[in-house]
Amino acid sequence: MGAFDYPALPHQRRHGPHGYERPITYRPWLRDEFTFRCVYCLLREQWGRITGEFDVEHFRPQVNSPELGVTYENLLYACHTCNLLKGVTELPDPSRVLTAEAVRVNPDGSIEGRDSDARRLIAILGLNSDSYRRWRSVWMRNVELAEQYDQEHFRRLMGFPDDLPSLDHSPPVNARPEGVQQCWYAKRQRGELPEMY
Ligand SMILES: [Zn+2]
Repeated sequence: MGAFDYPALPHQRRHGPHGYERPITYRPWLRDEFTFRCVYCLLREQWGRITGEFDVEHFRPQVNSPELGVTYENLLYACHTCNLLKGVTELPDPSRVLTAEAVRVNPDGSIEGRDSDARRLIAILGLNSDSYRRWRSVWMRNVELAEQYDQEHFRRLMGFPDDLPSLDHSPPVNARPEGVQQCWYAKRQRGELPEMY
């Protein structure tokens, strides 16, 4: 388990809420769906103050696809920096493209795409810029030192936030209601929440 391990497989949505009027209402679902980290750069909520640092991001930009403004499948959980850099650019879907197979993060904090979609995404967002590389190498070292010297701190850096969303408030429509039982909150209730991820 590393600080910047991209998911093994392309993301399959577990949740399917629909019918909310404002994108922000989907936020608890997206936090759970994307496990409390930025879908682009893997910044974790646990590494910062959360408020103001994470956005509900429109994968297809609202200016080009206003009809998808509150469509759950078009929304991603992203850090403010990545969201800002992405802007209104049309990109390959990071939740499908950025996988362990398609992306390599090197010990110096640099990142490489191994297929054309991943390379394009990395290039357009600037995920391999000096500032991202420096940031990645700092956090890789932080996590490495914590793992070696302070297990409690290691668990804090790599574990789940305390305020897991319960998702028990029903949306107007839920296309995947079975996902609620698979949310991280429900797993914690059943004693199945992993210590870290
Ligand atoms: Zn990010």
